Amino acid sequence: MDFAEARRLMVETQLIPRGIRDERVINAMLKVPRHLFVNEAIRYRAYDDSALPIGEGQTISQPYMVAVMTELLELSGNEKVLEVGTGSGYQAAILAELAKEVYSIERFEDIARQAEQILREIGYDNVYIFVGDGTEGLPEHAPFDRIIITAGTPNVPETLKNQVSDGGIIVAPVGSRFSQQLVKLRKHGKTFKEEYHTPCVFVPLIGKYGWKE
Ligand code: SAH
Repeated sequence: MDFAEARRLMVETQLIPRGIRDERVINAMLKVPRHLFVNEAIRYRAYDDSALPIGEGQTISQPYMVAVMTELLELSGNEKVLEVGTGSGYQAAILAELAKEVYSIERFEDIARQAEQILREIGYDNVYIFVGDGTEGLPEHAPFDRIIITAGTPNVPETLKNQVSDGGIIVAPVGSRFSQQLVKLRKHGKTFKEEYHTPCVFVPLIGKYGWKE
């Protein structure tokens, strides 16, 4: 299978027609080897227009969802980003291409280690993986210029709102346990400007300030 060709088709048929325009995001999606972030047995489906299982009942997000969320983050290359929900590490790799540093936190240790290993193998040295409850953020590394939550949440936890810098952006799937909508928050001093985007379905954010197990 020609994976570079599969990525080109993914961009052309899944991302461009749905409105992804940011050249830097498109180039990152053309570059990052998504097939290395899934189990070998389903590698042939890595560039399909869907989420795929990664173990523990969790998923690697659909390529389009990764692209939209990344575009909404408006990354220029100098940002320090927090990702809540490392999963496969694929979104972290895309962020690593477009930002300065990526801090990513995952609640399942085995999933986190697996992501860490593949990111290291490919050569990303600006991604730092943590195991823990991401709803508490990473206070010792805050503030972050951008925060992306890649699991469905009833609302954006105050803890995370407090860890984004002034002028910073948070993107998260907010809604019920079974369906959400992408929300983009931009911090202006003590207030947040809120925008609603694409409807989506993510696995739940489980933690102190998310859903209960
Ligand atoms: N960004 C991922 C998609 C991950 S799916 C990717 O590119 O593959 C969501 C992930 O969030 C799952 O791995 C799940 O275990 C994790 N998660 C759920 N609640 C969490 C929490 N409170 N803290 C950290 N990770 C959490």
